[in-house]
Amino acid sequence: MQFVHDTPAQRVRFATGAAREGLAAEVAVLGARRVMVIAGTGERELADRVTAGLPVVHHHDDVVMHVPVEVAERARAAAAARDADVLVSVGGGSTTGLAKAVALRTGLPIVAVPTTYAGSEATAVWGLTEDSVKTTGTDIRVLPRAIVYDAALTLSLPAELSVASGLNALAHCVDSMWAPRSDPINQALAAEGVRALEAGLPLVVKNPDGLAGREQALYGAYLSAVAFASAGAGLHHKTCHVLGGMFHLPHAQTHAVILPHVLAFNVPFAVEAEQRLAAAFGSRTAVEGLAGLRDKLGAPRSLRDLGMPQEGVVAVAEAVVAGAPAGNPRPVTLDAITELVRNAWEGAEPR
Ligand code: NAD
Repeated sequence: MQFVHDTPAQRVRFATGAAREGLAAEVAVLGARRVMVIAGTGERELADRVTAGLPVVHHHDDVVMHVPVEVAERARAAAAARDADVLVSVGGGSTTGLAKAVALRTGLPIVAVPTTYAGSEATAVWGLTEDSVKTTGTDIRVLPRAIVYDAALTLSLPAELSVASGLNALAHCVDSMWAPRSDPINQALAAEGVRALEAGLPLVVKNPDGLAGREQALYGAYLSAVAFASAGAGLHHKTCHVLGGMFHLPHAQTHAVILPHVLAFNVPFAVEAEQRLAAAFGSRTAVEGLAGLRDKLGAPRSLRDLGMPQEGVVAVAEAVVAGAPAGNPRPVTLDAITELVRNAWEGAEPR
């Protein structure tokens, strides 16, 4: 065996029904006295509940998906004006992303309280958008110092959005199996993430008001993000990044549509990953496992339904091939990726 695996320090607290107490404890560990709370208007009520009793100097609700640079600048200015000493983010990936943008420049610590399954809280990846172009990078300063997971905070996430967000997490796991820095440790985390998401997501759909499925989904989402942060972005993420950038498609739903196509494309060339994924799904093959899960969840199936124009298929394929991740198990050719994107656009069965 020869590999190098880095495990960055981060405290993780699972606290179903007890986010407020858990958050207070994490803020105390940091010795913080001037809390800036970042939460979009939709999550304000949740944020007020979990931050009650904290020494809050500013509530910031100016949250926009993919973090436009001017939104990041306003948040940084607010943190400086209030002399904040910790950032508490309560929300999905967009909210965590804004806290990261502030931390990137100021070095302020973040305590993240996630309310979706996006997993940004467990990665050191930041993203900023300028003139419709999203730039991402990695910086250890943006990795939240602590995460407080409370499945009760995700009860209000509608089932449809829960499914898309959960499949975004599942995509982190699957792509970790062949991403550029994939290793036995992040593969083990990814496989356990698949098992937890396979167990949890159908329960969320069956009973959106129940905690059991949401706890499993949140646990799986955390594992998926740790695996992804370590393994890096593979072919699936590259494809979704291109699609999101060119057509502004909804983030989580795009992942849900593309994942089975990339899985079917790679597995004939990735026998070990295929076996691990099949075992994690508890199915005969990985492709059957994912197909069965998508059927149970009623997942979105076509890029056409998400608003992508058909004329864009070849341009997407060209961009994916140009930026194909190193070490993808199957050669990434223009013909093959064009077919993959066309199938995903039509909502055809993955081949
Ligand atoms: P989001 O944060 O944009 O939230 C989607 C919608 O759900 C919003 O309208 C929000 O108000 C609502 N919402 C959130 N929590 C809710 C709750 N509990 N109840 C009801 N509604 C709720 O979406 P997302 O998918 O969580 O995040 C997407 C963003 O995160 C993208 O910009 C993506 O690039 C980024 N992301 C980054 C990383 C990373 O490692 N840096 C990882 C995953 C995603």
